[in-house]
Amino acid sequence: MSKSLLVKNGYVLTLNEKREIIPDGAVYIEDNNIRAVGRTESLKHHKADTVIDAHGSIVMPGLIDTHMHLAQGLIRGCADDVSLVDWLKNYVWVLQGNFTPEDGQLSAELCMAEMIRTGTTAFIECMIHSRYGFNGIAETLERVGMRGALSKIIMDSTGYADSEDIMYHGMVEEADECMRETDEMYKKWHKEANERIQVWYGLRSLGAVTDELFREVTEAARSKKTRMTMHLGEVVDDVRYVKSRGYANLTSFAKDMKLLGPDMVFAHGIHFEDEELEVLAETGSHISHCPASNTKLASGFAKVPQMLDRDVSVSLGCDGGPSNNTYDMVREMRLAALIHKPVAQDPLVVSAEDVIEMATLAGARAMGIDHLVGSLEVGKRADLIVVSLEWVGLNPSPNPVSNLVYAGSGRDVTDVIVDGKILMRDRELLTIDEQAVVEKARESIPDLLDRSGVEITPKWPVV
Ligand SMILES: [Zn+2]
Repeated sequence: MSKSLLVKNGYVLTLNEKREIIPDGAVYIEDNNIRAVGRTESLKHHKADTVIDAHGSIVMPGLIDTHMHLAQGLIRGCADDVSLVDWLKNYVWVLQGNFTPEDGQLSAELCMAEMIRTGTTAFIECMIHSRYGFNGIAETLERVGMRGALSKIIMDSTGYADSEDIMYHGMVEEADECMRETDEMYKKWHKEANERIQVWYGLRSLGAVTDELFREVTEAARSKKTRMTMHLGEVVDDVRYVKSRGYANLTSFAKDMKLLGPDMVFAHGIHFEDEELEVLAETGSHISHCPASNTKLASGFAKVPQMLDRDVSVSLGCDGGPSNNTYDMVREMRLAALIHKPVAQDPLVVSAEDVIEMATLAGARAMGIDHLVGSLEVGKRADLIVVSLEWVGLNPSPNPVSNLVYAGSGRDVTDVIVDGKILMRDRELLTIDEQAVVEKARESIPDLLDRSGVEITPKWPVV
């Protein structure tokens, strides 16, 4: 006997090929599949076990965060208003380099709670160190019910871009260990939980991976038919690194290492030359644009308008707790739609519709699951969210599409469904004990700071 769910009376953004909007729309779901999408009136013959009345709300595909760090939820706000190298060397690496598997699992659950609450249904976690406990994180993902790509960190050197030997000792891993654990986790978890979980290779940044290891990983990933992600062009130092190695630019290095292709998600991608964008487009390599992190760490502006013009696949990422400091994709959409306009001195670049596509369709493409999710269409998996337009700051709302992007926040999300299962109903998480997670996070942070020897205080005197 199949279970059925009807979400009705909503303002439905289908994100189908014609990008149709159904003002009084409904989505009918059986088990984990979308069976019908249309006007509420035309779907009323479907007698569903559960009905969600989305009157006064947007109903849309779940948001997809294509670059995030599950380990950084717990260290939110631990490195604010500092320079990037200081940020890494004296805060982030030291804190994460003192994680226990319990910290790793707690941080992952904290992130997932926030992501569900703010309408994210799927994500790419980019680098799981063995000390965070891959198994515990995968078990949490299985239980919580989101869709996620868990990338095992891959490294064999201790550099970062053109700086040699600067990695904190607690963050260092051996290549053999990285490859062995990825194999094990791939066998155990890849496509498990009804295909909700994927296991990827998460290459550490330039300077931390030798050419031999790059080539070993690309071969291994392709023979397994899984995917890869890495930070690339987040810092100018990445360009200096490839130039010092005799390469003309980032993409010529990436080409030589066989990193380019539709199975690669490059995070940030700020420091590309214009001509490199053609290479990204031709090879189908994906860019995860992280506007909040890029502005907070003053990394620069990715050439998103130019990328979209050239049909580069650009999705959105929240990055992490010390760089953003939220995992709220609605706020990320807002920033993505805002920051490129003054750079281009053109208010027409990167529209509200563009960023919604980046957060849904392009995210699904980056994860290699665009045949399953990213739009509300018959036959696709039921990953969708309900976003209330009730709050005063969203009223009036003659155009809910642009208003969602420019005036909305993830806190307007009321209901979240992944793979046909309700994970949040009327703002209440159903698969996570939110209060318990928040309390545990509050309790564990003083101990982590103590172990790491990191002190966090406001710049003003605390009296
Ligand atoms: Zn990152």
